[in-house]
Amino acid sequence: MMATARYLDSHCHLQKRGLPLATDEIMARAKNAGVSRMLCNATCEGDWQAVVDLAASSQEIIPFLGIHPWFAEHAERGWEERLRGMLKKIPAGIGETGLDKCCRTDFSAQQQIFTTQLQIASELKRPLVIHCVKAWGKLLEILEAYIYQLPPMMIHSFSGSREILQRLIRLGCFISFSGRLIADSKLHPCFLATPLANLLLETDGQGRPSVAGVMDGAGATDAPAQPYNQTLFSDEPAAISHLYQFAARMRGMVLDEFCQGIWKNGEIFTHTILPR
Ligand SMILES: [Zn+2]
Repeated sequence: MMATARYLDSHCHLQKRGLPLATDEIMARAKNAGVSRMLCNATCEGDWQAVVDLAASSQEIIPFLGIHPWFAEHAERGWEERLRGMLKKIPAGIGETGLDKCCRTDFSAQQQIFTTQLQIASELKRPLVIHCVKAWGKLLEILEAYIYQLPPMMIHSFSGSREILQRLIRLGCFISFSGRLIADSKLHPCFLATPLANLLLETDGQGRPSVAGVMDGAGATDAPAQPYNQTLFSDEPAAISHLYQFAARMRGMVLDEFCQGIWKNGEIFTHTILPR
């Protein structure tokens, strides 16, 4: 049975480096579950073409091209010009980028790569997807210094405090929660404190076909690993219906109304690259 609600997966990674783009089944399951739009994020330059190809093959996939902080030291000379060149040809956002103090990548390299992507997003008016782990002070310092030139921004898989949340909301950020929301009740106060007009939901998934497959290591890539409990939440876009149902229930909202609100937020976040 086709679902009636229309879901947005605001952050995923459907490209599989080194594997064929065998997403037909994933897309069919997403469609059947009512997932009508997916924001697919690259993690390094080696991903960009795969993300562009996926978006060309499915109207539902919106491409985001960028360099993840984990890969900041591997960025090859001239990447900024190549990114600009692709963005001028293709209506794409910039992502995934950001700052991460829990990885081994040199933090000054991360900052440099992040601020360059922020500048490009600002200049070309493209939505920017931000990953931040334990680097909120530096992130806020950079964004607050940029206050009059900020592009549309989304903080993906938010994990900060209430105070950080309020400062990000004052900067106009969308705040996206992943399936960790189901597994981790520590996220609930921030989720409930996020105004509906700033809220997004995501799988952060790589389109892994099943929990069993993940346990076997099938479909593994060197893209960012899933931080939440796979036994509770599968990471392909079709699984996001569970997250929406959980989130709507927590906020005491009717599912359809909740879905419409999130859908509208996604349209506002990506308005400079839609319609494609
Ligand atoms: Zn991600």
